[in-house]
Amino acid sequence: MAPTVSEPETTIIDGKAFAASLTEAIAAEVAGLSAAGKRAPGLAVVLVGEDPASQVYVRNKGRQTIAAGMRSFEHRLPADTAETDLIALVRRLNADPAVDGILVQLPLPAHINTNAVIDAIDPAKDVDGFHVVNAGRLAAGLDALVPCTPLGCLLMLKHVLGDLSGLRAVVVGRSNIVGKPMAQLLLQENCTVTIAHSHTRDLAEECRQADILIAAVGRPGLIKGDWIKPGATVIDVGINRAAGPDGTSRLVGDVDYDAALGVAGHITPVPGGVGPMTIACLLRNTLTAAKARPDSGF
Ligand code: NAD
Repeated sequence: MAPTVSEPETTIIDGKAFAASLTEAIAAEVAGLSAAGKRAPGLAVVLVGEDPASQVYVRNKGRQTIAAGMRSFEHRLPADTAETDLIALVRRLNADPAVDGILVQLPLPAHINTNAVIDAIDPAKDVDGFHVVNAGRLAAGLDALVPCTPLGCLLMLKHVLGDLSGLRAVVVGRSNIVGKPMAQLLLQENCTVTIAHSHTRDLAEECRQADILIAAVGRPGLIKGDWIKPGATVIDVGINRAAGPDGTSRLVGDVDYDAALGVAGHITPVPGGVGPMTIACLLRNTLTAAKARPDSGF
């Protein structure tokens, strides 16, 4: 009789619970500052136009900033705002001592040059970590404000796996906001890192090598179950709208989640995985930026 091979268990990484505990720790630190008579760190969020998804993100960010005991400054500008006016606002926020972090919600309307706006943000207040100074500092292994989504992924990975040294990591996607900084962070943790993208020849074979597989593409179910090395840790960054079996639309990731269960050792669900960690890391970056300011008095 053939031996019975039991399927490995897949542990679901609860990003929501992890983000809640991170936010709680940040709120406790902020409360400590306030008890010591220090001012509350402040986050300014700038929204141009009325993109519905961006409005939801900005509302959530504001709510969670206040819940953590920080000050939230929201600036809502009309869709036809001139680039020069937006940059003038960013410069005012750079100079405002009550503002420790500045986030300009992307995407911006097409007539505005996104890079010019990001360039205008003081790198010390660049809590999204998108400024080239922060990207360069991260690549050089120096202290930097790190983009929130890959930072959240790294915190979860370290929580689940501990030391990442020597592990093979495959990052699918090479955007400046997720894929590239994710690869840099994993390299700093001594992983052997491959960055795969839309021109990669045999994506399935690359993925099969991964002890840590990060999917940051934006294609529902791109990563199949048999692309995953048994026991691998899978972090699904993708957020896609797809039709469910009942015809209603639902959020899904880049990984074929049902097929990954029983193969992956750990996996983040969508929703409830990477998403909640992104906002928690924004609060973390705001506190980091506040504490790093020489004039902050913290
Ligand atoms: P992007 O469009 O800027 O980059 C996508 C990357 O995927 C590109 O580098 C491209 O080369 C690669 N790619 C495209 N098709 C591919 C294919 N068939 N095979 C391999 N690689 C392919 O996207 P982004 O901003 O990096 O976001 C990626 C996904 O992550 C999106 O679904 C986005 O909504 C999601 N996202 C989630 C969060 C969060 O908080 N959870 C934050 C940011 C982005």
